[in-house]
Amino acid sequence: MIVVMRAGCADEHISAVGRRLDEAGYGQHISRGEQRTIIGVIGLGDAEKQTLADQIESMPGVERVIFVLKPYKLVSSESRADRTVVRVGNACFGGTGIVVVAGPCSVESREQIVEAARAVKAAGAQVLRGGAFKPRTSPYDFQGLGPEGLDLLAEARAETGLPIVTEARAVKDVELVAEQADIIQIGARNMQNYDLLQAVGETRVPVVLKRGLSATIDEWLKAAEYVAVNGNMNIILCERGIRTFETSTRNTLDISAVPVAKQLTHLPVIVDPSHAGGRRDIVPALSLAAIAAGADGLLIEVHPHPDRALSDGAQSLTPDAFARLMSELRSVGEAVGRPLVQAPRQDLPGASWEP
Ligand code: PEP
Ligand code: MN
Repeated sequence: MIVVMRAGCADEHISAVGRRLDEAGYGQHISRGEQRTIIGVIGLGDAEKQTLADQIESMPGVERVIFVLKPYKLVSSESRADRTVVRVGNACFGGTGIVVVAGPCSVESREQIVEAARAVKAAGAQVLRGGAFKPRTSPYDFQGLGPEGLDLLAEARAETGLPIVTEARAVKDVELVAEQADIIQIGARNMQNYDLLQAVGETRVPVVLKRGLSATIDEWLKAAEYVAVNGNMNIILCERGIRTFETSTRNTLDISAVPVAKQLTHLPVIVDPSHAGGRRDIVPALSLAAIAAGADGLLIEVHPHPDRALSDGAQSLTPDAFARLMSELRSVGEAVGRPLVQAPRQDLPGASWEP
């Protein structure tokens, strides 16, 4: 259930509705927009709803009470006055500009991650990516450097000032990743790992939630709701391609997921063209298409030496190819009214970012 307050209503009216919900034993999520405040009510059973809705509707300052029929209530576009903007350092996911996250699939060594970080920053990326805990399909493949990888990412952040995103593969990783990273990634294979979603929901660290390999948009948004209902609304949805019958690409980029997810939710939506295509030659085309379709940003794999990468070399761009793509993105971004926001200033070594 959603309580929509009148435009410009007094704070005491908002608090009074909050108190009434507290008394009735319901959780709430208050969203203060520029125009209106909206209160999402959590935990109502069907029978109780109507009576409470009638009572609240007659309180001062309340415009109307609506029932959200969708199973994802907190992340649904109806439950918020404005779109969510997730701020990490100078990057605003869901703001007016496009945010580009770039870096290698895996953190492999200090030299590799620092070189990658410098290169992506020089080309204009605002956030550095790199996997320390890698979810690999084969147990014989490189599994990531684990905690050492996190330390190396922190060094690359200190060198460049770029905030970092990295995956938490299991519940046991969450505490450490939440301490060290600026954004926690939930990988496609873990989109329906509900214990993990709950664990990241209990932190307040921004989360990139990848769409599962075979997940419908509805399942993806329900997964986001798990994070939200545990208290963390800093969610960035990431479309990374889905399984289809097509074999010429690693996955099929579901470009429709961008406008559909943006219609259904208030969350920022970014696209990962690297895992979608699985081939570096088509990463630029997919990236430009994603921005033209309304994506709020991109997550792109870039490796200083893709031919020597320990994972996903075939889909990783070289720093030069990435720099060329960034200039193309600038033009497409401008054409669709989404400027490419510049990287954080270089004079912030070791800055720690507050979400
Ligand atoms: C990754 O980002 O390196 C990754 C493993 O992505 P996904 O979970 O989308 O496969
Ligand atoms: Mn990868």
